[in-house]
Amino acid sequence: MSKFLNEKFKDFQEYTPGEQPKAGEYIKLNTNESPYPPGPLTRAKACDPENAKRLRLYPDPDLRALKQALAKRYGVEPTNVFCANGSDDILYVSFMAFGQDGLVFPDITYGFYDVFAGFIGQPFETKKLKDDFTIDVNDYLNTGKMVVIADPNAPTGLELLTSDIRKIIESNSDHVVLIDQAYADFGGTSYIPLTKEYDNLIVCCTYSKSRSLAGARLGFAVASEGLIKDLEKLKFSMNPYSVNRTTAEIGITALEEDDYYMENCKKIAETREWTTEELKKLGFYVIPSKTNFIFASSPDISGESLYTQLKDRKILVRHFDNERISNYNRITIGKREDMSIFIDTVKEILGKQGE
Ligand SMILES: *Cc1c(COP(=O)(O)O)cnc(C)c1O
Repeated sequence: MSKFLNEKFKDFQEYTPGEQPKAGEYIKLNTNESPYPPGPLTRAKACDPENAKRLRLYPDPDLRALKQALAKRYGVEPTNVFCANGSDDILYVSFMAFGQDGLVFPDITYGFYDVFAGFIGQPFETKKLKDDFTIDVNDYLNTGKMVVIADPNAPTGLELLTSDIRKIIESNSDHVVLIDQAYADFGGTSYIPLTKEYDNLIVCCTYSKSRSLAGARLGFAVASEGLIKDLEKLKFSMNPYSVNRTTAEIGITALEEDDYYMENCKKIAETREWTTEELKKLGFYVIPSKTNFIFASSPDISGESLYTQLKDRKILVRHFDNERISNYNRITIGKREDMSIFIDTVKEILGKQGE
């Protein structure tokens, strides 16, 4: 830290992303990336020399073509779509735009929410998940604050009932309810259709997980026209070109081969079910997941010890330094062959090999 840093950030605790080791060295099951590459059309577009020539030009600040493609894909109007540099960027702008009365979200959820809220200086309140890690919907009714819910939730993988989501949106009609759906494509329920019914709902989505484009940084939100205008106002006060030209282009192309991505999501969901069953056979407790990861603990080994021993054997999973979940690991679902190696390695660690 230099002596020049603003006093207010000196003690501020920033977000710690999952480890990104040198490629090839590890089986990476720690940051919920897709094990599959982007589709062939998307890859070709990313390397298109004609596009590369146009990199001398700024991107369209209104991202009209991208918004149109997303609107068509999701059955809404382009005026209902906001795009930004990853959904993290959307969360940040939304917290700033709508969190003035404070924010409320679960104690165990995406680790960026409290960082963003603290960074912006917005007060926030966390509500304890029940012992089985489900959300108590009553905690989120009539809050008088902006509500933020990841559905399905991370790192638990659990989703709420649609009727509960509706109750939350309806009972907080004076505030924005943001549903973070980074993982909805892996078997969860999409709440994009509800944005037509509720003018206080933002559904936040990303290309990072289900569309294999974490490195391209593209997120989008769907909401009523008024909320989108507000988000644009803030974006144009910060960084109107936050989505770069190449990413805007491949974001459109990815939708042209969306079947490829949705098929991958199905494969990942199948591998998730396989991995869950295998872990259960080894005595693990595995929370039923609707995402591309599972959250699991074993009565025979601590979460941290399993994490460390897997890492020694070149497999990375995510362990969180949080007392309530310290016995768990979050395991991203990779290709079937990666998960076979993972299961064999867990067996070896537990000393159960050959049983
Ligand atoms: C991965 C993730 C994000 C961030 O996605 P980006 O689009 O890569 O910024 C947001 N919310 C949740 C719950 C996530 O897991």
